[in-house]
Amino acid sequence: MKRKVEGFIFDLDGVLTDTSEFHYLAWKRIAEELKIPFDREKNENFKGVSRHECLRILLGGRNPGSSSFEKLLALKNSYYRGYIKRITPESLFPGVLNVLDRIREKGGRIAVASVSKNTDEVITMLGVRDKFDVILDGYSVKRTKPEPDQFLLASKMLSVVPGCCVVFEDSLAGIEAAERAGMLSVGIGSRERLNSADLVFNGFDEIEFNIMIGKLVEILTYEHRL
Ligand SMILES: [Mg+2]
Repeated sequence: MKRKVEGFIFDLDGVLTDTSEFHYLAWKRIAEELKIPFDREKNENFKGVSRHECLRILLGGRNPGSSSFEKLLALKNSYYRGYIKRITPESLFPGVLNVLDRIREKGGRIAVASVSKNTDEVITMLGVRDKFDVILDGYSVKRTKPEPDQFLLASKMLSVVPGCCVVFEDSLAGIEAAERAGMLSVGIGSRERLNSADLVFNGFDEIEFNIMIGKLVEILTYEHRL
């Protein structure tokens, strides 16, 4: 039986746009205020790590006391939120808009599912908020990727069974979450790093929509998943 891909779930950071520079700038400002050396190399260790854990790493052995630890977390977020005001529709990765529009034309349902607590604001600044049927952010579930919870919630809210959903992700944790949710996955990034995904593209501008859908349907049809 031929199955259809009907639900399309997008991660935000590293998939629709790149906010890592803003996280870097916010941490750098905190580090400067605390007179702790911080540069881009140190920032590499912060990628995919929670804000709480990042601050612990930044402080090293220093103890700012529990109340000021919380204050620093809040301050970092407020700096970050200031920086993301710089996001414009031009910050959307090339080819994303085209793919979103093609999905719409075909009657697909679209969700964004991200751990970012600023998801709504970022997709609004990117000018694509109205392209999404469902918006899930860092507040939507307790257990984050690689747990499948957020993707399963997206599938439920889209009213599309997990086996007919595809997830677009740039992180291994996200691809694992998709697999555990029983969904197809498309990796956005390097082929070597994301080789566990069903398909991998360097960017959305590489995607030929009909060919991609054809390949996904083939996987659904012949791999007898779920
Ligand atoms: Mg990501």
